[in-house]
Amino acid sequence: MYDKNNIFAKILRKEIPCEVVYEDDQVLFFYDINPQAKVHILGIPKKKVVDFRDFILRLDQSTVQYFFTKIIDVINGLGLDQKGYRLIINNGRDANQEVPHFHIHILAGENLKGIR
Ligand code: 5GP
Repeated sequence: MYDKNNIFAKILRKEIPCEVVYEDDQVLFFYDINPQAKVHILGIPKKKVVDFRDFILRLDQSTVQYFFTKIIDVINGLGLDQKGYRLIINNGRDANQEVPHFHIHILAGENLKGIR
């Protein structure tokens, strides 16, 4: 069940500020408050989805495809494709998913050996 008071829901409602990288009516990309690499961006769909499973199984294919296409656009827009990047999705307890609104981490800007 989706918790409408999770931190990303509050960010989407503009109750909590964030440093926006890209936003439109379907997606929001913003900088992680506690970066694990020189560039650490979080990407979220605006639909109320808890985790990866929820995102893939409950949303229609075009919404899923749109989200992943926007990840590429954000990466390319910042030139991160030149040297490489890492995408991470933490799903559930064993992965220590902290925020129960589906999100993807984009890590880049330095060599990511030892960073995850
Ligand atoms: P998870 O562990 O759920 O995959 O990742 C959640 C991420 O959200 C963490 O990297 C954490 O630093 C980030 N985060 C938590 N609260 C906030 C916040 O209020 N603002 C921003 N920008 N990032 C946050």
